[in-house]
Formats: sequence, C-alpha cells, structure tokens
Amino acid sequence: MLDTIKNIKTYCNSLTIYSRYKTREVNIGDIPLGGDNPIRIQSMTTTNTMDTIATVEQTIRMVESGCEYVRITAPSKLEAQNLAEIKKELNKRGCKVPLIADIHFTPNAAEIAARIVEKVRVNPGNYADKKKFQSLEYSDTEYNAEIDRIREKFVPLVKVCKEYGTAMRIGTNHGSLSDRIMSRYGDTPLGMVESALEFVRICEDLNYYNIVLSMKASNPKIMVQAYRVLIEKMESEGMSYPLHIGVTEAGGGEDGRIKSALGIGALLEDGIGDTVRVSLTENPEFEAPVAIQLVNRYKNRSEHKPIKPVEEIPYDPYNYTKRHSFEVSGIGGSNVPRVISDLSKQEIKDASDLSVIGYYYNPSTDKWSMNDSAPDMIYLGNKELPFDIPSGLKAIYGFEFWKQLEDKSKGYPLFYASEYSKAESKSDILNLVSIYLDDLNKNLIEKIKNDKAVVLVLETNNIHGMPEQRRAFMELLLQKIENPVIIKRTYSDISIDDLRLYSSTDLGALLIDGFGDGVWVNTKNIQFDSSQNKDNIYVKNYTKNSEKIEKVINRILFGILQAARVRISKTEYIACPSCGRTLFDLQETTDMIRKRTEHLKGVKIAIMGCIVNGPGEMADADYGYVGSGVGKISLYRGKEIVKRNIKSENAVDSLIELIKEDNNWIEPA
Ligand code: SF4
Repeated sequence: MLDTIKNIKTYCNSLTIYSRYKTREVNIGDIPLGGDNPIRIQSMTTTNTMDTIATVEQTIRMVESGCEYVRITAPSKLEAQNLAEIKKELNKRGCKVPLIADIHFTPNAAEIAARIVEKVRVNPGNYADKKKFQSLEYSDTEYNAEIDRIREKFVPLVKVCKEYGTAMRIGTNHGSLSDRIMSRYGDTPLGMVESALEFVRICEDLNYYNIVLSMKASNPKIMVQAYRVLIEKMESEGMSYPLHIGVTEAGGGEDGRIKSALGIGALLEDGIGDTVRVSLTENPEFEAPVAIQLVNRYKNRSEHKPIKPVEEIPYDPYNYTKRHSFEVSGIGGSNVPRVISDLSKQEIKDASDLSVIGYYYNPSTDKWSMNDSAPDMIYLGNKELPFDIPSGLKAIYGFEFWKQLEDKSKGYPLFYASEYSKAESKSDILNLVSIYLDDLNKNLIEKIKNDKAVVLVLETNNIHGMPEQRRAFMELLLQKIENPVIIKRTYSDISIDDLRLYSSTDLGALLIDGFGDGVWVNTKNIQFDSSQNKDNIYVKNYTKNSEKIEKVINRILFGILQAARVRISKTEYIACPSCGRTLFDLQETTDMIRKRTEHLKGVKIAIMGCIVNGPGEMADADYGYVGSGVGKISLYRGKEIVKRNIKSENAVDSLIELIKEDNNWIEPA
C-alpha cells in the first residue's frame, strides 16, 4: 500500500510523544466535536424507532450512562418522521442530547431526518448503491458515471444539511463497500477510505464541511490501518475532519470488550479519535462506560516520561507484516505467539492446581490433558513445583534460583539485562532476558544479537507504555536484532475491568503491527469488584469474585491474541450490536448459538439482526445467521445465502447441520 499513498509522513503527530491529532471542530447541536474538545462518547439505541416511549426511555438511560450523542436508526421515511416525536418527548423530559439518524439505503429518509436531528450518518457503501456482491469491472468512464450518479442522489441531502446546520457522518464499514469500490480497490483499508472520500469531495464542492468520518471493521487490524490511511489521505487533500472511532460487530461480554479495546485503544494511544462508540451485543447503556474507561486513560498521558524519538519508521504501519524473528525453542520464527502464565505469587500444592490455567491431571492414568487456551510457559519465580509439569509446558525461574537447581533441565532462567551480560551459567537451550527500551545499548546488543538461545522479555514502566515498547521494537529492527520478543506488561492497583481494557490495548496494538512472539501480564493488587467504577451503575462486571486472577489473565491473553487474529483458540462470533431494525433478541440468540458452537475453534459465525444490512456487514464470517423477517432466519455460507426464511425455532439446528455438511463440525468434548 505504501506505493499508492504518496508523501508518507506519519499517520499521527508522533509515534513517541502523546498528543491528540487535531481535527476541525464540527458542531453537533450544543456539543461540538473535534478541535480542542474532549473525546466524546456515543452509542446507538436498539429499540424500534416507531416506539417513541421505549426509544426515549432507552435514550435517557444511555445519557445517564455517559452518552453525549445518541444515534437512532431511520430505515424508512416513517421512522425518520418519528424522530420529531422522539425529540419532542425527550425535550419534554428535559433531555437535550444531540440525536443522530442512522441511514442505510434510504436517501429520502435521510433528507427528512436531516431536518429534525443534529446529525445524520450515511454509509457510503449503500447510500446510493445496492450491494450485489458482484465483482464487476469498471472502466474509467463507467466509474466516473457512477460517481455522477451518486452525486445526483447525495447532493439533495448535503443541501438540507447546509440549510439546517445539520452535521453528517460519512461512515464506511469494511463489510459493506460498494461493488464499484470493491472492483477498484478490493476490500482494503484504502478502499474503505476512498469510499468515504468520494462523498466528502461532493460535500466540499458544495462548501459543506460539517463532516465526521469513520472507518469501522470487525477486524481491529483492518480498522486501525484504515484510520491511518484515512489520515494520510486527508492530510494530502488538505482535509481535517473529526474521527469517530469504533470496532463494529465486536460481539459482547469479555470478547467484545477485548476486541473493542484493541482497535479503539490502538488509535487512542496515537492520539487519534474525537468520538468513541463501543459496539457490544448488549443493552446500549453498557457501551458508554467501556468507552469512558478507554478514553479516561489518556487524561494525563501527555505527562509521560520522554521516549527516545525515531527518525525512520522501519516497518509499514499500513500493511501487516510480522517482524521476522528466529526460533528459540518453539518461540518466535513461524510459531504463533506464546502465552506465559505468571504463577510466581500463587500457592501451588499439587497438580490439580494447574487446572485453573487449562492443564488437567488424571491421577489414575498419570496423564495430563489441556484445553485450547492453556499457556505455553509458566513463570514460577523462586519456587519449584512439588510435581512434574506436563511435557511441552516450559517452566521459567528467576536466574538466581535456576542457577541453584540441581537439575537445570527442569526449566529455563529469566535474567535481568544486567545479570545476563555478566552471567557465567546459562541454559544451552533458552534464556529469557528482561529488557526495557533504555537497556538496548551497544554492549547488550552485541551480546544478544548472535545468541540463538536468547528470547527477550520486553517490559516498560512508562505510562505511555505501548509507544515505548513499540519504539523498542523499532530499535530492534534498526539494529537488525532478530531474537524473539515476549511483550510483558505489569498492572497494579486497578480494577479487573480496567485490566482487561488496558492489556487489550497495550498488547493488541503491538500485535496488530506485527510485533511480539509472546505475551505476559503480571499484576499487583487487582480489584475484582469494579469498585473504581462504582459511580456508574451501567458498568458490567464480567468476572466472578471467586475466579482466580491467573485464570482471568490467561483467558484475556488468549482473547487478545484471537482479537488480533494472530492465534486462534476458539470460535469467533461477529455479532451486530442490534438496533431498531433487529428482528430477534440478539443477546439471547447469540448466547444460544455460542453454547452450541463454542468448541469449534477457528470457525467464524456472524449473528446479524437484519437482512438489509446484516449480509453486507458480516465481514469475513464463515457462516451467517441473519434475521430475514419476524420469526424468520436466513443462513449464509460466507456471502452466499443457502437457506432462506427458515423458522427461527429450527434455525440453530439448521446452522449446525450446515456446519456439519462442510465437515467443520466436531462433537463437543
Ligand atoms: S445488522 Fe444489526 S445493527 Fe446493523 S442495521 Fe441490521 S439489525 Fe441494525
């Protein structure tokens, strides 16, 4: 992609100093967005837009939970007109929150809504196009004729927005690019950007600039790249529109939060984003608290310890390429990133204690079994276990402790950088060396560079930690050091909710840039009761107080690897957040499908509320379960519809039959 984007500077102000990427200010009712304004929080209702009272009451709950803007779907003229009733009732109840009409396929609804609400959202993939999933070839003349056709349909809306002072979000979705864009750019980040810019150029021709842009995808890697490309392209065309950021169809529960934090957090770390929407398959009042938790992390970020600047970016931030590393004892090279479970502070009395991290010992057969999210290594610090651990699981000890072990083959040492330089006793197979960016001096570099038994454990104590660790990766690339690197983060005195979001951001942002051969999270004093967020009744706690911290961390680490799509250990669910178009109870249905399919490692299942948008937005799912009428479901294999309008009572069984037909089914253990 680098060849197609000229004059690459960077996509943010700095890769090493935290600072907000500045965009122009756009007025949305009384709450301006972009410029020097704080990062705004928003979400979308899930009620039927024709049900005025339900929509008003849900909107009020969303405002109480922290939403500064509320989006409501307007699938047809009727709903668009009803926005006036909703607004009236909200005003009556003292709620002045700016409303946003969500439009797909229906220009006439958009033109009505733009006269009522403060902002309209259009999807450039379907505003003037019906997606046919055809790979058409467009000549330049045909392509330009298509743009003229769009202009004709879109100009009336721009004129209404200008007249009424209504803002507009041009929001691209990776899954719903038009056939025209697909034919020229494919479903790439550049295609997503071009899809929006075609519409922006029409707005600018009419001197309309009250625009917000978004580039959403359910794959955080694609989503992050698309925002980066968008900024490059905006800079090159003299644009500076505020950015609405979010991961679409992130699903719900812990996985939905991990996926959202990974994509949104990766951008926030670089100062990108003017408003955040977290999209969960849950009631919308549970979304804003997650967005607030993510955004609040940057309040004092600019006070961070300085990070050595970088003059040359030795990797391509617009295209995923995994950093090349050599293999050391199954770590690095072409192996999936490894997971380290830190058991150094846990009391482990017998083999059954390893079950919390997915290793199960059967005394009658003297055999171990493991689940798909069992770690590859355990860090034991200064203690030996009173039993033999499963073969294949590596034990890591502090160097001083390992040095005194009679049988050194029982595990491998972890050195501080200073210890490693002087150590006389080392493992012939695997030595882990803990380093910080500042340790990467000439002396250490010479020592580790040619040592094929060294795996680096990269740490940070900078509050701008991800960029400091990324800077260390850049240094390794510039110095041509190819030892594998395990990314380690330590978190203390935070809630388990914050731990989940912060670790997903910090580790995930590096993984989606191709950095990291393993992940390790260490914690001190983590609060399980969400007491830090007790002021917001809409904060959902996904962790039971009785759960062991090492179990939760292990699950989060595998979740992060899955969300970054670098190690698949479970079924992936791409579930829409639901809205006024939804034709069934998405949360209930997703839970039902999850219960029956969660053992199908690597299979991607999309659960989408409506046939209008669902199929277009299922991204790269293997199977789609899509609402196609009241009590009716259509099933998809990839983008192809294979069963139409089956009764919802039989739909999950039919989905499983379909998976079986494709030989993708295994019986649950
Ligand atoms: S796919 Fe889901 S969120 Fe999107 S329009 Fe349909 S029901 Fe609404």
